[in-house]
Amino acid sequence: MGQIHILKGDITTAQVDAIVNAANSRMLGGGGVDGAIHRAAGPKLLAECKNVPSVNGQRCPTGEARITSAGNLSASYVIHTVGPIYNIDKAPREHLINAYENSFKLALSHACQSIAFPAISCGVYMYPHHEAAEIALNVALEYVNHFDIYFYLFDEPLFNIFKQTYRQLTTI
Ligand code: ADP
Repeated sequence: MGQIHILKGDITTAQVDAIVNAANSRMLGGGGVDGAIHRAAGPKLLAECKNVPSVNGQRCPTGEARITSAGNLSASYVIHTVGPIYNIDKAPREHLINAYENSFKLALSHACQSIAFPAISCGVYMYPHHEAAEIALNVALEYVNHFDIYFYLFDEPLFNIFKQTYRQLTTI
């Protein structure tokens, strides 16, 4: 039985088996947490991403996940998942749930015991933060038997939303 930990800080410092990246479908790096993970991991991560098969330039469709090794990060794996772009996605809630679930499934099939997530879609993809936290934590509660789960929130408001939502979901 693992635990859910809600932390404020930089996910690239996480000491876990798998770090989840809020990537884009091309999986060639980007801004936000994606850029931070690629900078910290070094060029080996980009080289591994390029080896992931692509269809019309898309390596990972929205809601799916792909796994690579983690370059210079202390983690064993980076799991790349693509959250919905809130304003243009036809099924943003379903796709955000899928992004978390498919990340957990890949971690499970690679025998990971600890996993760190950023707030997927909460940056430039503009998912409303309260609903995103509720989705992230509800899926995490389904998998907490299998992992120690760490959420790294980069700023104080989002950190507070995750803490408050977790209290609401776990208080009877
Ligand atoms: P998305 O495109 O899925 O919205 P972003 O990278 O724009 O992804 O943002 C996702 C969340 O990650 C945002 O809340 C952003 O503040 C946060 N973030 C950015 N850098 C880091 C980091 N180094 N560690 C953890 N979270 C980060």
